[in-house]
Amino acid sequence: MAGTDYWVYVNRAFKKAELHKSKCGSCKYGRTMHGDRTTAKDWWEGPFNSRDRAWECAQSTATTVGGVPTKCALCHP
Ligand SMILES: [Zn+2]
Repeated sequence: MAGTDYWVYVNRAFKKAELHKSKCGSCKYGRTMHGDRTTAKDWWEGPFNSRDRAWECAQSTATTVGGVPTKCALCHP
């Protein structure tokens, strides 16, 4: 695939929205860490083809779950 996509991992229980690159080892197109499942408590938003748009999503979803947006320490998006 061309370029890098971005994903946002949202967890309502932990009140977090974490920005990842699609190439991230814990992300892998939003599927590796939590399988294919999407629950009411945690899910992935994406893909985004722009980091700015993904970060905007992280900020708004973080507000939705009552937390703050963060960036993955592994892939440094
Ligand atoms: Zn990551």
